[in-house]
Amino acid sequence: MKQEEILSILKEKQAVLEGHFILTSGKHADTYIQCARILQDPKITSLFVSELLKEMKDLEIDLVIGPATGGIIIAYEAARQLGVNAIFTERENGKMTLRRGFKIPKEASVLVVEDVVTTGGSVREVLEVVNKQGGKVVAIGLFADRTGGKIDFKIPTYRIFSKEIQSYEPENCPLCKKDILAIKPGSRGLK
Ligand SMILES: [Zn+2]
Repeated sequence: MKQEEILSILKEKQAVLEGHFILTSGKHADTYIQCARILQDPKITSLFVSELLKEMKDLEIDLVIGPATGGIIIAYEAARQLGVNAIFTERENGKMTLRRGFKIPKEASVLVVEDVVTTGGSVREVLEVVNKQGGKVVAIGLFADRTGGKIDFKIPTYRIFSKEIQSYEPENCPLCKKDILAIKPGSRGLK
């Protein structure tokens, strides 16, 4: 799929909004990403996952893992298309961990997926969990990368949408200076 096609779907589904936004952190930005708007649509989720998997077709993947919550649906769909299992990590006392009896077999080739990365913190924690269990991460698949591809996990990483999104302290926000009304999107889902 071409980037323009992907962007037009993202905009149509309001998963990517352009304007002037107040983020959960209090910072301002000109672009807002809400992946849940894509993940609510199984057909588009399936399409985006198949686009990611096309890039990985030469890899052998034994297991898919993603961090709760955004990673769960993508992991499930990727696993469904690959014919393998999907598991997820979640936080326990603030620490990313495997619960529910999930195990990663030693030497398993693992695909890590996530919906949105901003700093990559959650993905790095998942990588750590996989490594500790003796699995080997062979690829990372992301629906949206807010660093525009600057983030480097030292593992082949594939992205559906990638854009470096600047955020500003309100006092330094160029959009505020232009007197454009700032909107606070009604969700805590922004990362
Ligand atoms: Zn502003």
